[in-house]
Amino acid sequence: MSEFKVGQSIMERCTSCYHNALKVIKVVPKEFEDKTAYVVWTQCPECGNNDHQLTQKDA
Ligand SMILES: [Zn+2]
Repeated sequence: MSEFKVGQSIMERCTSCYHNALKVIKVVPKEFEDKTAYVVWTQCPECGNNDHQLTQKDA
């Protein structure tokens, strides 16, 4: 599984203008009892819309 890095572009569709790539602006680790997940904050380079998604990292 690939890791997310700040500044990286990911192939996700913008929920606002439907542009097909988003830029990662922040990655926040979230610890659970049995796994680590990440909240990946993204920004659309076209319209500037901010969004976030929870991504799990399997052990
Ligand atoms: Zn957009």
